[in-house]
Amino acid sequence: MKVPDEDVQEQAREFASNVRPTWSESLNPIEKALQYAADSEQFKRGLLRFVDVLPALSSPARITQAFREYFDDEAVQGWGQTVRNAIQYSPSSVSGRLLRQGVKRTARRFLAGFDRPSLLNELQSIADRGDRFSVDRVGEAVLSEGASDRYVDEYDALLDDLSGFDADTASISLKPTALCARFHPRAPQTTIERMYPRACRIIEQAVEQHLIVYFDMETDRTRGITFELVKRLLQDFSDYERFGVVIQAYHRSCTRDTNELIDWLEQHNRRLFVRLVKGAYWDEERARALRNNWPVPVYERKGKTDQMFERLAGQLVQAHPHVRPAFASHNLRSLAYGVTCAKQADLPDRDWEIQMLYGMGNRIQRAVRESGFHPRLYVPYGELLPGMGYLVRRLLENTANQSFLQDDIDRQTYDKPDPESGHVERPEPNGYQTVGPADFSRTKTRSRQQQAYDDRRDRRVECPVLVGDERRTGETDTSINPSRGSEVVGTVHQATEIDVRDALRKSPERWGEVDERAGMLRGIGNALEADRKELTALISYENGKNWPEADADVMEAIDFCYYYADQIERIGGERNRDVPGETNRHVYCPRGPTAVIAPWNFPLAILTGMTSAALAAGNPALVKPSGETSVIAYEFIKRARRFVPDDALHYLPGPGSTVGSALVEAPEINVVAFTGSRAVGQSIRRTVRDKNETMMTETVLEMGGKNAIIVGPSADIDEAVEGIVESAFGYQGQKCSACSRVIVHESRADELAERLRGATQALIMGPADDPDADMGPVIARSEQQRLRDAKQYAREEGEVILDQTTPGELPDGHYVGPMIVDKLAPDSQTMQTELFGPILGLTRVESIEEALSVANNVQYALTGGLYSRMPSVIEQAKEQMEVGNLYVNRDITGAVVGRQPFGGFKQSGRGTKAGGPDYLKNFLYPKTLTENITRKGYPGEA
Ligand code: NAD
Repeated sequence: MKVPDEDVQEQAREFASNVRPTWSESLNPIEKALQYAADSEQFKRGLLRFVDVLPALSSPARITQAFREYFDDEAVQGWGQTVRNAIQYSPSSVSGRLLRQGVKRTARRFLAGFDRPSLLNELQSIADRGDRFSVDRVGEAVLSEGASDRYVDEYDALLDDLSGFDADTASISLKPTALCARFHPRAPQTTIERMYPRACRIIEQAVEQHLIVYFDMETDRTRGITFELVKRLLQDFSDYERFGVVIQAYHRSCTRDTNELIDWLEQHNRRLFVRLVKGAYWDEERARALRNNWPVPVYERKGKTDQMFERLAGQLVQAHPHVRPAFASHNLRSLAYGVTCAKQADLPDRDWEIQMLYGMGNRIQRAVRESGFHPRLYVPYGELLPGMGYLVRRLLENTANQSFLQDDIDRQTYDKPDPESGHVERPEPNGYQTVGPADFSRTKTRSRQQQAYDDRRDRRVECPVLVGDERRTGETDTSINPSRGSEVVGTVHQATEIDVRDALRKSPERWGEVDERAGMLRGIGNALEADRKELTALISYENGKNWPEADADVMEAIDFCYYYADQIERIGGERNRDVPGETNRHVYCPRGPTAVIAPWNFPLAILTGMTSAALAAGNPALVKPSGETSVIAYEFIKRARRFVPDDALHYLPGPGSTVGSALVEAPEINVVAFTGSRAVGQSIRRTVRDKNETMMTETVLEMGGKNAIIVGPSADIDEAVEGIVESAFGYQGQKCSACSRVIVHESRADELAERLRGATQALIMGPADDPDADMGPVIARSEQQRLRDAKQYAREEGEVILDQTTPGELPDGHYVGPMIVDKLAPDSQTMQTELFGPILGLTRVESIEEALSVANNVQYALTGGLYSRMPSVIEQAKEQMEVGNLYVNRDITGAVVGRQPFGGFKQSGRGTKAGGPDYLKNFLYPKTLTENITRKGYPGEA
């Protein structure tokens, strides 16, 4: 539907004519701070971070310290400087209290109450003005079933409180992600099953009261499930006509979503409230997509979003009576457009409305009222601390450069939106870009992946030994699926010491020129990419990784190929330092035959990383995979051999004690690239030291870890819980980078322990190929037994806060439930030994200094993490924490090639850093070539 633009402009001007600031607003320090933040990016950064951390700070002194740290001298001028000086020169007990009050007042502007009684007062005044409202409960991130139940309980109580309001005045808004603890876009049906009973509980009561129930639209990853849930509710509550959903105009698929929704409503003859918004998660959506190398799901030009808002407004109005549209915006032009459409289509007043956010753009809200409309306000409430996320988002909106709230209303033209306007620069790609993880929230990606699982399910692979161009057979070993002990994944012929000798005999000293090798590596990367889904499925079957972990393994393998291809081109060429009469070249030469000895826990990624580095360097590679994952290795070698000469890449599966040792001891082997346990790594070092050799054997040894995450007093506990659970129990804790120790400040320890327990309990255990599974099996029966013993030790050493049993309905695999043990002594066995399984220990400390000393008091130095929002603490950890990879305020696993070069020191490794700019040099030796080109005094040309 299109409406004449003059009518829209006239309506917008009418709104504008009613906009009047009040005195109190122009003098309000909060308004001034927001205004200032809109002009100064640095101030805004400081403000948002300060507001974010504030509720977690217990004392006025800490608050003042945080303020000083966030607003250093350069960051603030003008108004900010005045405030800063005031803080600087008053006692911290006073300034701390003032700052807390200031932020509380800001929060009160956007949150209608910190509890239900204060909310109800506010709702009453909204109703008394003749406005309507939709209440949204903001709270802690829902990470446990208990938190999800509390969310529903809160709505139960809220609905009771709302019973006194008229049904057209009151409504509620629900966050779909709060309806269950594990929200899995990769498993929409089971996720909906989990959400459904809670959704029904709320709806049954809302039905009695005849209230509208809106399902908020959160981020792109929750979109599909939200629509599906609402459709199911529409079918099951077939008489209820008061459900609502949200369409976000900034989303690139907003037109498709709207078309599909309208078609569905028409087909099923149902009615739905549809709130049309522009979208509130723009920064988050864009940053996540750019990080993952995904297409950005939202429009990057603001003008395009504005244009889509108008188009959709017309479309929704036309879909009446199936759709009852709500135009939710503070932009006068956008609102005017919606209003004009509704009027021209003669929509009954009760079938459409304007919606606005509580506390935002108050002048505009008043103008809308003055113009004769009663908006429905979206009213959030909740405690200050968990409500901070909401507050920060609102502040971000209020201070965005392109914010409508900052617009000078008198100067607005109310012209048609220009889709080309409001362009945002993309950051320049910096170095190698990852291929990115698969986005399983996309239906197509998901169904193709499922197809790959189905196709591979019953395939058994026979893996011969590959020595040059020969396929050799011999004794066999059977590789089984750890999720289902009776399923065979493949039969692996075992190499012998004779095969090792023959492979060495056939191997050239070096192979290929730099360009050729780089090209071949890219070919291998392409081949892996082409078969990505199949390889992902195989990893789940042979190695027990769930969907996202298995996919990440393949992603990393592909990244290694492309990254090392780039790197060899960078360092493989000659370096030229010529002077008159003399040439000086510095070149890197292949070291020669390389033994690649790989672990099972990243069966494709690590094996590919070490092999592709050797190949990139021009070294022939003799690959010995782990016994547990030899089929995956075979599939890689088979594909790589399409590009690499047979004699340069051999496949030698077999036991470490025979095949591994034979490789390490062989005089012809010039490089041993090993990733695995500390014990084996150290034995390799000793063997190499004593062996009979021509060239000094280079070793690349990546070994174990005992990785800690420190949680400081200023940590965001929502984020810490999520990050720790991911780091400790992702792939059942069997990552070298996994978190196995949490070192928490006393003041947050009880809260953290309790929330970790709830969040861990919610993890879903199942066979790795089940898309819903968070945790699959451990790799082998022997590991299951070893971990049971380790649990026994842990029980004796600390206070068990969770020891989850495995669910009865699991198939016959090797499952181990997660365990969390609190109050462990830092030098206890559980806190010192690498357990390599889902066992997490907690220890409590009283200061950051103590935390760092406990963290460093282990033999390893691989990964580590810190959750803190104090810049000085973050700096201290960066300087003092003994780890190869430090992650601040995020989980500590999942290093991305090129972005986070990976590897540790102390007993974790030699600091060779896989996926980093120096890694290939371990496979090369440098040579300097100097030539005097002077002839009879003539210096010649270099
Ligand atoms: P592992 O040491 O048992 O085995 C690794 C490889 O070495 C296997 O292929 C094995 O067959 C071989 N091997 C065993 N004995 C050998 C010998 N005497 N000579 C030569 N080769 C021999 O390790 P794993 O159980 O496969 O892997 C888990 C370990 O790997 C953990 O300690 C983990 O922390 C570590 N790891 C470290 C990193 C890292 O980057 N630092 C990455 C992944 C795994």
